[in-house]
Amino acid sequence: MFDAIVINKDTDEQTVSRSQVTLPEMEEGDVVVDIAWSTLNYKDALAITGSSPVVRSFPMIPGIDFAGVVSESRHSDFAPGDRVVLNGWGVGEKHWGGLAKRAKVKGDWLVRLPDGLTMRQAMAIGTAGYTAMLCVMALEDEGVTPASGEILVTGASGGVGSVATSLLANKGFTVAAATGRPEETDYLKSLGASSIVDRADLSGPPRALNKERWAGAVDVVGGVVLANLLSMIKYGGTVAACGLAGSMDLPTSVAPFILRGVTLKGIDSVMCPKEKRLAAWERLATDLDPTKLEAMSTEVAFEDVLSTAPLFLEGKVRGRIIVPINPE
Ligand code: NAP
Repeated sequence: MFDAIVINKDTDEQTVSRSQVTLPEMEEGDVVVDIAWSTLNYKDALAITGSSPVVRSFPMIPGIDFAGVVSESRHSDFAPGDRVVLNGWGVGEKHWGGLAKRAKVKGDWLVRLPDGLTMRQAMAIGTAGYTAMLCVMALEDEGVTPASGEILVTGASGGVGSVATSLLANKGFTVAAATGRPEETDYLKSLGASSIVDRADLSGPPRALNKERWAGAVDVVGGVVLANLLSMIKYGGTVAACGLAGSMDLPTSVAPFILRGVTLKGIDSVMCPKEKRLAAWERLATDLDPTKLEAMSTEVAFEDVLSTAPLFLEGKVRGRIIVPINPE
């Protein structure tokens, strides 16, 4: 038996509690991991609060990611003692997740902890930071370089936004950080943002096209914010869209795409192929300034996870939340 956060649903009522649970039987390819560090992401907040139908089966242990040490393995790539990271693959949604002392997952889902990162740092990065890296790689794949011009990051004070701001600044990009929290100006500048954009300036009724301002963007907000920024992307620019913190809608027109050759690249971290994940994690181990990573991280005790989750939906979380489970 081990300690876990467990979500249950009876008829329409969702309950969440700390409970003792037992892992299911091991099957071929399975690996048991003693979790060292976990984290909270926006999606975990949706699962824990029940505000969106993220959880597909009950009872469910939430937690879409974790870092830990292999204790048992029926997978040829992993042996007891290996240090691993997991992101996505439906863990914390369809399969028991990382807000627990232990997890049993498919070995194919695991990434070996890259050299140069501690397990605590891997979870300070977490799925939010790994997604930020996928966004940066998407901009680069489309030929966006520091010479192309300024890059806009929306929801910049949040998890994806903080890591994206830091990664882009470290790579020499000029970063405009869009936020609804002007009180985070000093924080965002410390991560490397050159200028701050008021979220309100991107929240009016979108026009088909506006004055060209940014060579690219990383967007976590969706809705009118994404529609507005698309209308301001420079000719040939690229937007990496990964989130819906504002809205699932996209009230735009084809104008930015057919008149300015703008590319809208969708970013999915959950089912992202393993090769790309490995590349993203290798880049995170080298491209992210550990001092900035520490500055954007806040530790929350396991017993405080349930009271912290709703803060994501209120837009009150700054940077990344990490949760010690069996810390190294
Ligand atoms: P987070 O830490 O809560 O950050 C979201 C940020 O968005 C907030 O800090 C806030 O930034 C801004 N925001 C919040 N509510 C808003 C609203 N109503 N309108 C406009 N801006 C708002 O969450 P996260 O972990 O970074 O995740 C961000 C988004 O990316 C979520 O939608 C998440 O589901 C998504 N995501 C997707 C993937 C994927 O695979 N596609 C992976 C990870 C995350 P400011 O206060 O600075 O404005």
